[in-house]
Amino acid sequence: MSQANLPLYPPFPRLEGKVALITGGASGIGESTARLFARQGAKVVIADVQSDLGHSVSKEIRSESGQPVSYVQCDVAKDSDVENAVKTAVSMHGKLDIMFNNAGITGKYDPSILSIDREDFKKVFDINVYGGFLGAKHAARVMIPQKKGCILFTASIASVCYCGIPHAYTAAKHAVGLTKNLAVELGKHGIRVNCISPGGIPTPLASKAMGGVDMKTLQETCMADAILKGVPVDANDVAEAALYLGSEESKFVSGLNVVVDGAYSLRNYSST
Ligand code: NAD
Repeated sequence: MSQANLPLYPPFPRLEGKVALITGGASGIGESTARLFARQGAKVVIADVQSDLGHSVSKEIRSESGQPVSYVQCDVAKDSDVENAVKTAVSMHGKLDIMFNNAGITGKYDPSILSIDREDFKKVFDINVYGGFLGAKHAARVMIPQKKGCILFTASIASVCYCGIPHAYTAAKHAVGLTKNLAVELGKHGIRVNCISPGGIPTPLASKAMGGVDMKTLQETCMADAILKGVPVDANDVAEAALYLGSEESKFVSGLNVVVDGAYSLRNYSST
């Protein structure tokens, strides 16, 4: 094939006609992903517990992108809420192409196993693990008959290395193993399942985990912690990975844990 005949690849916009449901889409990584997905032609439904923020963010992205972007109230720890969010996306747009299970919390920081409260530990699992499980389950019910779909999870570098984060969070983010099981189970239905593991990213969650530090200081800390130097990191760097995994460019990619951390985790990598 001559250069002149090469197809324009990737096709633009990269998510034209796709329908995406993003949990935790009102803030941080989810919000950046909703913005980027809409700019790339997707119809986006933001599912979050923060109602005012969810409405205002979706309105802003809608007017900026010209795409249908909406908000649905959803606590990912509640089965009926997640089921309703998936049903809302399908009833609005007729299908579901991308389910991004991104909502998460770090939970209380208690460094000692001796004093960690069981309920606090469980809450982290309810949102980070059970929430992702419910999202995958309700999305699969729609995607299996479609014979196509893409399920994404947000884990963390806590899934591959020690990074001084609460015990419950580290344990929960190791549930990234669900990605591989589901990639095998759902692969026969044409459904891809992948996971993204961000390093330190300046978002409200990271700020809270670091005692309320401001975004500028947080960004400087995230940059200083990375091995890769000179890259001004923000939530959009994770959104770009979600865009690749959600688009047709990755149509043969499934079962991956994509680490987006400027090589931070290589300092303390665990193969388990
Ligand atoms: P964020 O706080 O900016 O956004 C998280 C969003 O999730 C918020 O809008 C929040 O309202 C929502 N949420 C929380 N509990 C929810 C629930 N029960 N149901 C529905 N929505 C809920 O934080 P972020 O940094 O963008 O976090 C997004 C994901 O990235 C999380 O899973 C987090 O664990 C992961 N992560 C973040 C970092 C980081 O440094 N920021 C690093 C690794 C992994």
